[in-house]
Amino acid sequence: MTFIEIEKMQLPLKHPIFEVLAKIADEKGIEAYVIGGYVRDLLLHRPSKDIDVVVHGSGIELAEETAHHLGGLHVSVFKNFGTAMFRYKGMEIEFVGARKESYRANSRKPIVEKGSIDDDQKRRDFTINALAISLNKDDYGKLIDPFGGIEHLEERLIKTPLEPRVTFSDDPLRMMRAIRFASQLNFQIEENTFNAIKEYHHRLRIISMERIMDEFNKIMLSPEPSRGILLLDEAKLLEIFFPELVALKGVENVNGVKHKDNFYHTLTVLDTLSLYTKDLWLRWAALLHDIGKPVTKKFVKGQGWTFYGHNHVGERMVAKIFNKLKLPQNEKMKYVQKLVNLHMRPIVLSEDIVTDSAVRRLLFDAGDDIDDLMTLAEADITSKNEEKVKRFLKNFKIVRRKLKEVEEKDSIRNFQPPISGEEIIETFHLSPCKAVGDIKSAIKEAILDGIIGNNYEEAKEYMFKIAKEIIK
Ligand code: ATP
Repeated sequence: MTFIEIEKMQLPLKHPIFEVLAKIADEKGIEAYVIGGYVRDLLLHRPSKDIDVVVHGSGIELAEETAHHLGGLHVSVFKNFGTAMFRYKGMEIEFVGARKESYRANSRKPIVEKGSIDDDQKRRDFTINALAISLNKDDYGKLIDPFGGIEHLEERLIKTPLEPRVTFSDDPLRMMRAIRFASQLNFQIEENTFNAIKEYHHRLRIISMERIMDEFNKIMLSPEPSRGILLLDEAKLLEIFFPELVALKGVENVNGVKHKDNFYHTLTVLDTLSLYTKDLWLRWAALLHDIGKPVTKKFVKGQGWTFYGHNHVGERMVAKIFNKLKLPQNEKMKYVQKLVNLHMRPIVLSEDIVTDSAVRRLLFDAGDDIDDLMTLAEADITSKNEEKVKRFLKNFKIVRRKLKEVEEKDSIRNFQPPISGEEIIETFHLSPCKAVGDIKSAIKEAILDGIIGNNYEEAKEYMFKIAKEIIK
């Protein structure tokens, strides 16, 4: 069935809340509609988490009446915003009175007045988000589409309902949202709409970083994040909030020796990795894996372009970037830092003869994040030289096999020292001192080098042997 045919029919509103809403709205003489994301996703066959209901009059009243009818569900009321919300059968149902909005310069906060459903549709960001379905008795299930939203769903187009310059200047967050939807849904942004974003990109500065990141993270989680990131770059929005990423761009040439463009390389790595994981933070690790390259770039005679220590510099930059972008400063950030730091290790390992001891050290450093690290490192293998890629991928298979073998034999992944500091102190009648740490670390090194196995007996025997040299 085409979208155009849908326009003429009664739309199937499957969630049980709709029948109840229609009944109460009819009894109370309230005009009500489902609107926005739910309608869009219904037509695109995408799952939704919430249902927005817009009411000509008081949204709070319809919410309270409906919740009462359903046996006294708890309603959260936000009087200042004129909104109310309750949960029902896995959905968040939000109610709001139809409104008319007008904006002033320098603020996203509109002047809000009561309005008609028509006014309410006009204040929506995109035509595909302005679709509404009637819940009223006379035209239940009828689609109300004043701006050609159905056509744009069919054409896979993001377009503002009103003049785009006005839409974006009123609320510049919508520029991020346009690109987010284009990336998430694999839609195009209509030309005039995109030109307006390019023209008004500087207005993004009045938007809080938290809101920018909400949209950016949705781009990161879209099937092919590079789509959104390239659009952000083209519109010059990216340089406003993420100049470090833009700094990866460009190719330098010294005596005919070039390095790769690390911006496009990063996006390729991110897209490849995204085929294998939906984990936001692993995707962030891919986005930032080479972030230290511009700072460490050097042309060395006889060697060409070098980026020494870019992983360590990158690790430090992650903390600064997370702070600036208002991303969590917790174990998620530490995880991204760790992967950025270690991202070259599996590749370096695969270039050499893969020894058990090198594999043990990698397992020790990566711990439980070893599988994610391998996914990142494998996605990082991008080269125009097919032979090179083939060779790397083959060696990677060997590394993966070795990792499995060594882990089965030595269980290094969650390494716990087999001999505690206390036992060393008691055995040799020491007070806590440097020698205790030295003995402990000599035991660990011996296990990682494969001199002894990762078990108590061999570690104890080794402890006596090593102690003679350390305690003199
Ligand atoms: P998602 O659930 O993926 O975030 P959504 O479209 O449901 O997508 P919400 O942020 O929940 O996004 O917004 C719900 C609806 O509110 C939108 O469909 C749109 O009609 C409207 N809307 C949200 N933000 C804006 C905005 N900044 N300007 C205009 N309308 C907006």
